[in-house]
Amino acid sequence: MKWIRFLVMATAISLMAATPARAINLLRDADIEYALRQLSAPILRAAGLSPSRIRVLVVDDSSLNAFVADTQHILIHSGLILKLNTAEELQAVIAHEAAHIANGHLSRRVANMRNARTAAGLGLVLSGIAAAAGGAEAGIGVAAGTSSSALRNFLAHTRAEESAADQSSIRYLTSAGINPEGAVKVQEIFRGQEVLSENRQDPYMRTHPLSRDRLRALQGYVAAYGKDQKSDGTANYWYARTQGKLSAFLRNPNWTLRRADSSATQDIGFMRQAVAYHKQSNLKKAVASIDKALQLRPNDPFLLDLKGQILLEGRQANAAIAVYRQAAAKAPKEALILGGLGRALLAAGQPREALKALESARARDGQDARILRDLAVAYAQTKQPGLASVATAERYALQGRLKDAAIHAKRAEALVPRGSPPWQRAQDILAAAQAAR
Ligand SMILES: [Zn+2]
Repeated sequence: MKWIRFLVMATAISLMAATPARAINLLRDADIEYALRQLSAPILRAAGLSPSRIRVLVVDDSSLNAFVADTQHILIHSGLILKLNTAEELQAVIAHEAAHIANGHLSRRVANMRNARTAAGLGLVLSGIAAAAGGAEAGIGVAAGTSSSALRNFLAHTRAEESAADQSSIRYLTSAGINPEGAVKVQEIFRGQEVLSENRQDPYMRTHPLSRDRLRALQGYVAAYGKDQKSDGTANYWYARTQGKLSAFLRNPNWTLRRADSSATQDIGFMRQAVAYHKQSNLKKAVASIDKALQLRPNDPFLLDLKGQILLEGRQANAAIAVYRQAAAKAPKEALILGGLGRALLAAGQPREALKALESARARDGQDARILRDLAVAYAQTKQPGLASVATAERYALQGRLKDAAIHAKRAEALVPRGSPPWQRAQDILAAAQAAR
């Protein structure tokens, strides 16, 4: 499917089995991730967590789920985002996951597992690179499971954890000034599913077991805490933009074009049209639509990022470079925008310039498989095969393909100076591959 390439797909988290690999595919998009940061920051602060350390990422999966697999990432399925109706509902989902992190539900389990060395028995290894690179900051790179049921058990919370998370989440929402009723609405989506067999339930039901008691308790908290908070215009905007962009990439272009006019704001409508025309490979109309959106928000780096992508994938590499440069100037810390700039420069045959952009992208986000792949190309084209092998090894490791990663790390080890940072990264990967065996 074409859009997968468009939306910059990266397999950053590998919750994979030893055999066969089962990876979680992330939909990486600077615009959507920025929107999710706007929606989550007040909640994370209310939870005593740092918005700069915890990322909310979208998993490319049409089923309904949201979960935490470590203490730094909240993962939400695209299907759930599309299913929800308001910013408050999405914020309730985020608050609930933040509560699992703040209450230490997952880390406790991970610690127990590691201590008891049951990790190997369950096929769960807190990854590879994360562990080898010194744990916490390495972040993603999570777990390996021998079967999807082991993975499910690992992600599933107990009822006691659920009720604690519900209670905390309502507190976070209200102290952030967000109407907590969204939490009840989210639970109502899953109402009645507890009587279904496991394979007919939404996966959310398995990770967050719902019961009638839980729903009743949640309604009680909402009644107790929930004063009539005003709806937040900014949150509503970013929510509509997330849902609009995601649906435009995921759904049929005709579906999008029929609905673009009824978007929450005009710029969102034009942005959705641009994506739809882009998916129809209609470069002219796609550019015309994104330009209309840009007229309304001329300083929006993420609309420029989308324009760059449209041009690049429409084989207008030089025009794309100019637009990506504007985007990067307005948002110099956005790794995915820098990655786009690097990709455009590679396409235009400027590997040296590309390398600069891609290295600075990688420094800000070392967990994007697409950036690592482009970086390997840029190193190869600038005759630095050792560094190309390190980047390739890192990409495979991130995707949970530790055997392939080890092959490239071994190659790199022989090519880069002993003791240098890239050599060290190759060592980390070799150690992780060894540990995962
Ligand atoms: Zn839960």
